[in-house]
Amino acid sequence: TLEEPSSPDQEQVEEPKGSILTVKDVHRSFPVGGGELHVLKGINMEVRSGQLVMLKGRSGSGKTTLLNMLGGLDQPSSGEILFQDYPLHSLSDNQRTKLRRDRIGFIFQAYALLPLLSAWENVELSLRMANVPSSEWKSRVTHCLELVGLGKRMFHRPFEMSGGEQQRVAIAKAIAHRPKLLLADEPTANLDTQMGAQVMAVFKNIIHTEQVTICMTTHDPTILEVADHVYEMVDGRFIN
Ligand code: ADP
Repeated sequence: TLEEPSSPDQEQVEEPKGSILTVKDVHRSFPVGGGELHVLKGINMEVRSGQLVMLKGRSGSGKTTLLNMLGGLDQPSSGEILFQDYPLHSLSDNQRTKLRRDRIGFIFQAYALLPLLSAWENVELSLRMANVPSSEWKSRVTHCLELVGLGKRMFHRPFEMSGGEQQRVAIAKAIAHRPKLLLADEPTANLDTQMGAQVMAVFKNIIHTEQVTICMTTHDPTILEVADHVYEMVDGRFIN
């Protein structure tokens, strides 16, 4: 049996800069109308600690399907996904839920903030649901909101903020529990170029200050240059 993942408190030491994610010949099919839709067709990738990796490709090419699998939200039909040596492809639902809670953060296109709670309360809420002692909440929330440049707007509510600010609250919320891996689905999709660039600057910064690794999908050609590596997906395969 697998060892349960340890709590984040026990791993404040810097991780070696080796592989954090290894994907081997991953396929994913979905049952559709009596047949099968073959969405991922043999994906191989290697992500090293501290990298910013982008998945680009047309809508429908399979980027979100792969991202969900990298975060243990879904499992491959065949193939292997190793996250910090944990085999995501063969873990139980409970084991994947625990791994996600302790070590993975997600950012979705639609921010997923509660509109009537302040930025501060939104970030605190995510800590309440994570495995973080309550004595750390206050300092951690403040730290994360300052990191994303919202130190002066902590008590504003999402509906009083711009899209770029809301997305930065969502980043603070996603990193508050100190994940090792941050996954973001089109994080700049609803933002103008300047706000998108601010979000990318925050990503670059937290890779160092929080020692996080980032995988994201994007359509946006203006941000590709900040990636350490760009995988281009066409019809369920990488073409590079
Ligand atoms: P992208 O993120 O590149 O736009 P997706 O991964 O969202 O692409 O989708 C790729 C294909 O897989 C699409 O044709 C989509 O309809 C299909 N798909 C994704 N999830 C499911 C599912 N749960 N059931 C059936 N089809 C799905």
